[in-house]
Amino acid sequence: METYNSSKVSHIDFNAIQTLVHQGKAVISSEDSALIEWAIKLIMEGRTATLYLKPTVFEAIRRWYWTPERIKLVGLKPISVEKAAQIKSDFSIDIDGYANNIDCPRCGHPYSTYEFIQQGFEEHGEEFVRAAFSFKRAAILAINPVQDTICRNCRLHILNTVEDGARIGNSYYYDYRCVEGNGYGCCR
Ligand SMILES: [Zn+2]
Repeated sequence: METYNSSKVSHIDFNAIQTLVHQGKAVISSEDSALIEWAIKLIMEGRTATLYLKPTVFEAIRRWYWTPERIKLVGLKPISVEKAAQIKSDFSIDIDGYANNIDCPRCGHPYSTYEFIQQGFEEHGEEFVRAAFSFKRAAILAINPVQDTICRNCRLHILNTVEDGARIGNSYYYDYRCVEGNGYGCCR
């Protein structure tokens, strides 16, 4: 994001900002470093927020967050070529990146990217989900998301369990790359 003054006002879409503010959102313009620090603070304090960021800021936060230790701890794995192809053909979504796999503690059914998209379609509609995965030169960062993970087979709301001070037990984690410049990740 950038700091602006009156001489640069013409570069800012005030109508878009007004619409967002009327929807109860806030638009923040600040230096990248301040934004990165703020996001890290939210993650560490366990507060919930969704940030829409330029890719370089998103990259800086995810590089800080996804340490080799954390990747190992939550079991983050690259999305397989077969799974990405299945998502493309079933949902018309181009996706790449990483996610973990969790098994439903009741019926053992797996939950990962495919199921996450299915649940998103159910809760928010197909168009909304496709739009979120096809941002151009912008990334979405879900910080401490409150969304429940619901088993696609038996409908169990899979609870998070607390281990080592981090919510890693049965939590679904993802760090997606989609079309050019688009990212979609979560930090908790
Ligand atoms: Zn289940």
